[in-house]
Amino acid sequence: MRIVVVGGVAAGMSAASRAKRHDPSSEVVVFERTEWISYGACGLPYVLGGQVDDFAALEARTPAQMRARGIGVRLRHEVMGVDPVARTLTVRDLASGRTGQEPYDQLLLATGVSPVRPPWANMDAAGVHVLREIPDGQAIEATLQGGARRAAIIGGGYIGLEMAEALRARGLSVVLLEQLPDLAGRMLDPEARQQIRAEVERQGVDVRTGVTVEGLTARAGRVTGVQTDAGLVRADLVLVAVGVRPNVALAKMAGVRLGRSGAIHTDARQRTTVDGVWAAGDNTESVHRVSRRRVHVPLGLAANRMGRVAGINMAGGDARFPGIVGTAIFKVFDLSVARTGLSAEDTAALGLDAVQVDVSSSDHAGYYRDACPIQVRLRAERGTGRLLGAQLLGHGDAVKRVDVVATLLHGRGRVQDLAELDLAYAPPFSTVWDVLLVAAGRLT
Ligand code: FAD
Repeated sequence: MRIVVVGGVAAGMSAASRAKRHDPSSEVVVFERTEWISYGACGLPYVLGGQVDDFAALEARTPAQMRARGIGVRLRHEVMGVDPVARTLTVRDLASGRTGQEPYDQLLLATGVSPVRPPWANMDAAGVHVLREIPDGQAIEATLQGGARRAAIIGGGYIGLEMAEALRARGLSVVLLEQLPDLAGRMLDPEARQQIRAEVERQGVDVRTGVTVEGLTARAGRVTGVQTDAGLVRADLVLVAVGVRPNVALAKMAGVRLGRSGAIHTDARQRTTVDGVWAAGDNTESVHRVSRRRVHVPLGLAANRMGRVAGINMAGGDARFPGIVGTAIFKVFDLSVARTGLSAEDTAALGLDAVQVDVSSSDHAGYYRDACPIQVRLRAERGTGRLLGAQLLGHGDAVKRVDVVATLLHGRGRVQDLAELDLAYAPPFSTVWDVLLVAAGRLT
């Protein structure tokens, strides 16, 4: 049995490890077009911001460690084509430029997503970046080392926000350009987006929303600014963070069905619609357990979990991906933000009759040092009390409480279930009636 994995990061390496563990007699080979495998891309802004020493620290497993486990790792090998009838891949060795055929019995597409690169003038100029892989981070570091002083970030999603913080920490002036009226996209309710904007501005970032980028300006091959419909923004470092697209070229070639989101459609075992071809990670849709819809939410835990499931199944086992509830968390300067379930826009789009409550409290006993404000918005279905979602804003890891709501959403819990929970209490950690219990109590 030859199991071949395309893509060697979260989903791909999880799958390879699980497949080898489940069936040690199988041959497992991973093709990865970069020189890096098994790393946490989530840590890239923190290397650039100086909280993590270097890019190598992001590596969970080295190629040597994976090879020692009996997994074949081919770095700088790009899979260019797939023939699902002959069960072969066309693979280019990027070092030598040679192209050859590789057979497979089971194939996993764990190809992730690519940053959207709008067709603006001068996108190829030095100093223009995207951030997805370690080489992207290294390129940004080189621009910083080259003396960049003024950054323009195009896109106010979580990567743009995390990078605004990182670049301010490196002493740059930062202009954040966003086409929408608010930052942080649609995953949060408008009030939360406004608080994020206030925090980012408080930290000295020049936020310009409702602005359309028309192109980039450059001189002698180096970027000099961003041309917008509201004027020129001068910059010697430009980060384009305007979203991602699933990498589905191989899936299309194989005749695999794509979902409405454009990502790969699989069943709960991560099987695609083509025999012998599996998919996992950011390139794949998942089922949202609250909305029951197929969604494309490219985040790390789901990618790792889908990879595990695919690995076990490709090696002859039986595992299922349980779906997601849309849980996400990020920090922007001194504000921590978390959400799970459905936003106000989601519930409206689904035609759900939702009620919500906002509660502001303290993240631990007010008399204990460093108590900080925490805000919760909790949402449930009118009549049934079924929990629909939550949004938390606070300080540090206080908003990690979102996991309590995520746990209940996973099991289709009701607001009454949350109100009755026996949550941990001591003054350094929470108030007697934790903010989540207060919010649930007000909704019941
Ligand atoms: P990827 O990590 O994209 O890996 C896919 C790999 O496939 C790539 O290495 C690519 O080179 C390779 N590949 C693609 N096509 C081919 C081919 N034809 N041949 C060979 N190789 C190929 N998630 C969170 O949950 N929390 C966070 O805080 C968070 N922060 C993030 C911050 C940043 C800056 C970024 C970029 C991502 C962040 N994420 C976060 C997302 C998280 O990193 C991804 O969900 C996760 O990496 C997805 O893993 P994956 O294996 O599906 O895809």
